[in-house]
Amino acid sequence: MTVRLLDLFRIGLGPSSSHTVGPMRAAARFREHCLAKGLVPERISVDLKGSLSATGRGHATDVAVMAGLHGWSPDDCDVDAVHALPTTLRSDPLIPWGDGMTRLVPDDVVFLPWAAYRDETLPHPNTMVCRAWIGSDVVHEETWCSIGGGFVRDTAHLGDDINVTRISPPVLEFHDAGSLVARARQISGGLGDVVLVNEIAWERDAGRVGRGLDRIYAAMRACIERGVARDGVLPGGLNVKRRAQAMLARVDAGHVDASYAHIARAQAYAFAVNEENAAGGRVVTAPINGAAGIVPGVLVEIADRLQLDNDRIQSALATAGAIGMLVKTHASISGAEVGCQGEVGTATAMAAAMLCEILGGDPRQAEMAAEIAIEHNLGLTCDPMRGLVQAPCIERNAMGVAKAWSAAQLALHSVLSNVVSLDRVIKVMKRTGDDMRREYKETSEGGLAVSLPEC
Ligand code: SF4
Repeated sequence: MTVRLLDLFRIGLGPSSSHTVGPMRAAARFREHCLAKGLVPERISVDLKGSLSATGRGHATDVAVMAGLHGWSPDDCDVDAVHALPTTLRSDPLIPWGDGMTRLVPDDVVFLPWAAYRDETLPHPNTMVCRAWIGSDVVHEETWCSIGGGFVRDTAHLGDDINVTRISPPVLEFHDAGSLVARARQISGGLGDVVLVNEIAWERDAGRVGRGLDRIYAAMRACIERGVARDGVLPGGLNVKRRAQAMLARVDAGHVDASYAHIARAQAYAFAVNEENAAGGRVVTAPINGAAGIVPGVLVEIADRLQLDNDRIQSALATAGAIGMLVKTHASISGAEVGCQGEVGTATAMAAAMLCEILGGDPRQAEMAAEIAIEHNLGLTCDPMRGLVQAPCIERNAMGVAKAWSAAQLALHSVLSNVVSLDRVIKVMKRTGDDMRREYKETSEGGLAVSLPEC
C-alpha cells in the first residue's frame, strides 16, 4: 500500500476535492512548469472538460483554477482572497508571473460544453487543458486530470502510483484488507497502528507524524466550530439553509431522545463540516471534500465522550486512513469515477472501522465494520442538485454518520465472520462504478439533480 496518510487527510478548500482542490493544484503545477521553462506568456487559458465542466460552476472550479494560476495553495491560501478573484481579476487581469506579469481573464477559464468535445476520449472524467499564449500561438500546453481526493496527474503520469513521496518500501507491507488485518495481528495492534509504523519509518520522525495528525484533527475541530457558529443560507441559489447550529442546540437542550443523542450530535457536527465545505470554507479531505463530515463528526463526538487522548486520536485517524487507502488503491474515492459510493461510502467505512476500534473491536471486527458500511452504500449514485455539494450531499453525510455507528456496532456484536470480505466488496464497488451510467457520476445529469420536477 503506497498512499500516504497525510495525502489522504489534507487541509483544503471547499466545496470539492476533485473539482476545487485538485484543479487548484493542477493549475499551480502548470504555472510551476511554465516558470521552470522561463516562460512568461501574454495570457493563460484553461478548458474544463468532463465532470469539471458539467458541475464545475457549482464547485467553483473556475475560481480554484484562477487561484492555482496565482501559485496559491489550498491548505494555506487566504480563503476570502480566493473567493474575490472573479471580481478582482475583472478590474485588473494582470497577475505576477515570475519576473513579469501575465493576463488572466476570468472568461478564459472555460466550462467547455460536452458537444464541443463529445468525439474525444477524455483521459479521465475530470480533465482540464491549460494553455500559455503569446499572441495567437500556444507556447505551452498541459492536460491535467483531477483523479479524486485532491490528487492530480498530468496525462503522462496518469497511470503512475498514487504516491510519489514514498522513499522506501513500507516496514509492514500490506496490499489489501486481508494482509492489513494480518499485519495488525502480527504487531498486536489495530489497523491504524500498521499505518503509523510505516509512516513513522518513512518520516524517520514519530513526532512529525504525530504533529501532522494533530494538525489535521485541530483543523477538523476548527471546521466544526466555525460551522456550528454560523447561520444563514448557503451560496449557489439552491436556498439551502444552514442547519448545524439549530441541530446542535436541540441536542444540547435535551430535545433529542437520550438514546440517540450521541448520533444526533455527531450528525450536527457532520452538517457543520459540510455546510462549511459548501460555503467554500477550509475543510479536511476525509477522504474527499464532499464526504468530509463523516469522519470528523464521528471522531469528535466519540473523542469528547470518551475523553480520548492524542495518541488514541492519532491512531483512530490512521485506522480511518487505512480504509481510505484500500479503497483509493483498488476502487476509487471519486464521485466522477464510481458515484457517491466512492465518496460517502468510503468515508462511512473509514468512520465505521475507526469507531469499531475505539469501542474495543479487534482488527477483524474493524475490517468487518468497514465492509458492512461499503456493502450498504453500493450503487449510491452521485447526483448533486445544480452541481452544488449541498443536496443530497450534506444530509447524506449525516446518514453516513448513522450508518458508520450501526456498522461498528454490528461488527462488534457479530459472533460469526461476514459473508463478504472488505477486499471483495471494494472490488464490487469498482465494478458497480464501471457499470454506472455517466449521468450518475457527478455530472448533475441524472437522479435528484434532474428528476425532482418530474416526481
Ligand atoms: S452526491 Fe455524493 S459523490 Fe456526489 S458530490 Fe455529493 S457527496 Fe460527492
